[in-house]
Amino acid sequence: MSPKPTITIIGGGIGGLALAAGLHFRKIPVQIYEAAQTFKEIGLGISLSPAAYRAMPLIHPLIQQIYNSLVTIHADSPGYEEYHQTWFELVWATGTQEGDILMNLKALPSGQTALRRADFLNALVELVPAGIVHFGKRLSSLVENENGVVLAFEDGEVVNADVVVGCDGIRSRVKECMIPVESLRTKPVYSGMYGYRAVLEMGDMIQAVGEKRARVATIYLGHGAYALSYPIMRARLVNIGIYVMSDQDWGYDSWVRPAKKEDIERDTRDMGRYVKALVERMPDPSQWAIFEHPHISTYTCSKVAILGDAAHASTPHQGAGAGQAIEDAHVLAELLSDSRVSSVDDVVAAFKAYDDIRRPRSQRVVTSSKENADIFCLRFDGVRDDPVKLRETLNRRLSWLWDLDVQDQVERAREKMVEYLEVPVTGKDLL
Ligand SMILES: Cc1cc2nc3c(=O)[nH]c(=O)nc-3n(C[C@H](O)[C@H](O)[C@H](O)COP(=O)(O)OP(=O)(O)OC[C@H]3O[C@@H](n4cnc5c(N)ncnc54)[C@H](O)[C@@H]3O)c2cc1C
Repeated sequence: MSPKPTITIIGGGIGGLALAAGLHFRKIPVQIYEAAQTFKEIGLGISLSPAAYRAMPLIHPLIQQIYNSLVTIHADSPGYEEYHQTWFELVWATGTQEGDILMNLKALPSGQTALRRADFLNALVELVPAGIVHFGKRLSSLVENENGVVLAFEDGEVVNADVVVGCDGIRSRVKECMIPVESLRTKPVYSGMYGYRAVLEMGDMIQAVGEKRARVATIYLGHGAYALSYPIMRARLVNIGIYVMSDQDWGYDSWVRPAKKEDIERDTRDMGRYVKALVERMPDPSQWAIFEHPHISTYTCSKVAILGDAAHASTPHQGAGAGQAIEDAHVLAELLSDSRVSSVDDVVAAFKAYDDIRRPRSQRVVTSSKENADIFCLRFDGVRDDPVKLRETLNRRLSWLWDLDVQDQVERAREKMVEYLEVPVTGKDLL
């Protein structure tokens, strides 16, 4: 029997590494090419949604073990165990109720789970053998032919791959090569918001906002802006973000632009005592553009597929981007390791089924994440700053995202794949 095709992954972020680990543990040949020389410590936090949390052990139990070993939860702060299932407490940063709690928004059963992205990446890379991870390899072009896919890297190396999964983030080169005409129309777009980001020591944070607001993940609701904070590193540090709506174009080449303390003070001038206290301690007023990915018509074309932010980068207002990459990796690892998938044509069928099942959900995340910012900025049509409607909307709107039956998603994809295996999908059909 001929060996299964090798899956070549471009990009070693959370999506690429989760897929690589899932395939490696399922004994599927895999190679991974990452542009960076190593994972830089950028110190910023991410939090994963309950559905992604449930998908992790299904990719491999070690992934969830790693996550559990790194993750910070409310119970890491003694005395705050009762917030175990809290995602965020929502606090008014404006109006007569400034400083009051609107609601305790729960994410069942895991609550807020947050970690530093670089710690997670460094641990994930340990799951795959060193020999299959190639650092310092930035893809410059990808061309498919009847023998496979020819990959050219910026350092001049050319690699022939059987099939390719692009996990190379929001500015995906794989996507641009896979659907060049559509990519011209669907470049990442500025979402109309920028952010300020920082990580503060817990001690500083307590001085700024008091013990409870420092230890319980909090979203501060303002008009046209919102702020959030949540503990990371076993509650020794706190991740801070302040997001501001703007009706001007980004107008800057880089996604980070220099700014002054006066800019952040102006952007938060109506935001009450807690946010002001955070602003006083923000070490760097640089502004980070928030981009998102317009919906594209497919996540696959013949022997190439895309996953994670390469396919569906969303704004961060729902804390769901990395979780979507993990859900993608779970579905794809299960399909590619199915005993019926043994040839390149079978992989093409698996890619097609993955696209059918994952695209609607992950694109819905892009749309609803942006709406979440409208809610937190008190601009959501029909809700605005009405506390009753805010509570009702927030309690309801995330259940489709969090309560997913992750295994059912795989089984639906598998059924699709079996249909495509019976009526083979050719590269030509897809182009
Ligand atoms: C401010 C902010 C806060 C966020 N908070 C959260 C959160 O709380 N929860 C959450 O779930 N998500 C969050 N996200 C989103 C989350 O970070 C992303 O969705 C997630 O990192 C996507 O993972 P990925 O592996 O698809 O892509 P990436 O993490 O972007 O990884 C892509 C990898 O590909 C490599 N690469 C790029 N180009 C090439 C190339 N040409 N050749 C080879 N390699 C290449 C890159 O070096 C990188 O390692 C946040 C995002 C932002 C901006």
